[in-house]
Amino acid sequence: VEEEIPATSVTLVSPSEISAAFPDEEDDYLISLINFPVSLDDIIPIKTFHPGPPLEFKVSAIEPENACILNKMTELVFNDDDEFDGTKAITYEDIGGLKGELKRVREMIELPIRHPELFETMGIEPPKGVLLYGPPGTGKTLIAKAVANESGAHFISIAGPEIISKYYGESEQKLREIFEEAEEEAPSIIFIDELDSIAPKREDVNGEVERRVVAQLLTMLDGITDRGQVIVIGATNRPDAIDPALRRPGRFDREIEIGVPAEADRMEILQIHTKDMPFEGMAKLKELRSSEPSETVLEKALADYEASRDKLLWMLASQAKGFVGADLAALAREAAIRALRRQIDVADIDNEKIPEEVLRKLEVTTSDFILASREVAPSAMREIALETADVSWTDIGGS
Ligand code: ADP
Repeated sequence: VEEEIPATSVTLVSPSEISAAFPDEEDDYLISLINFPVSLDDIIPIKTFHPGPPLEFKVSAIEPENACILNKMTELVFNDDDEFDGTKAITYEDIGGLKGELKRVREMIELPIRHPELFETMGIEPPKGVLLYGPPGTGKTLIAKAVANESGAHFISIAGPEIISKYYGESEQKLREIFEEAEEEAPSIIFIDELDSIAPKREDVNGEVERRVVAQLLTMLDGITDRGQVIVIGATNRPDAIDPALRRPGRFDREIEIGVPAEADRMEILQIHTKDMPFEGMAKLKELRSSEPSETVLEKALADYEASRDKLLWMLASQAKGFVGADLAALAREAAIRALRRQIDVADIDNEKIPEEVLRKLEVTTSDFILASREVAPSAMREIALETADVSWTDIGGS
């Protein structure tokens, strides 16, 4: 095999096959890349049998010449159907705001997963269950995925209603399987979204199925033997609707509120969701760059561009009261789509590659955001919309 072998033609077996073949490797996947030219810390995208983007691996060690150990960089998140969810690995960097909350989550979940010896030494028991509560779209799922990825834990995600409906008649069996998988693959995080639907207060429950599922969940929680290595994160927007038996000590006994973001947090979230977006002025900046100006001229132009972008983002953050993370992500997406529409007519789309000069013209403007904000009302508080009447986009510098 010659050196030109492209990364995308490397064949990978599934992670479970890899771990079966290399039981001592834990989170590292041993992959032989014969004559594949890599050096330490190279990041290699590798296409697997999964749909979705190629997985990225980082070379952490080079074993005798022609084999190397690659560290998983991208989350291998498989849901219960073993489907790759197609997203990039979520890291703490992807979470805007929620600093205090994230710190507590890391203390409760990442610390015992990474350092069980600390808890043993202190004679305290790490949690089995952590409840994240707050309105929809505030980042509860994001936090669960990030902490699983960053702790190198196996991640199993299940939506409460799915347990009842999709697995009707075998809900308890499904729950048992999930917990068994978690123990086998430990350290593991089981994420149960909409926990209130799976485990509502028993007096509220009419159905025999729900009653049995609650009982099963309690049994499974009580039966976790690998304390600190199997952690269940429950998410709900109605903590009071959850069976109190589930909130007793030794079960979901830690609770963290994930609230609606304040202005500075909204700014961070907007920055995250626009970090790869070309804002107004980007085309000029690129033009300048290609004319090879002096370092100081380029630095000044870049600083101006960033200042004008940040001014726009701060304006949006201050206006977007009641917007949660999911709304802000939708706002950024909608603004980008508007910018696209200005340059590209879907009716004219053919298989030709979009010419570079058209791509260069793609820029998101203040008005794209203002108009987008009229379409993306905050989900938590629909009555509060951006007070666009007060804002004229000629007010915004650089635009
Ligand atoms: P929840 O589980 O609380 O309903 P999610 O975590 O599923 O909400 O959030 C949905 C999407 O909204 C995320 O995938 C992300 O794009 C965006 N989002 C939500 N909260 C945040 C946040 N704090 N920082 C960055 N993005 C966020």
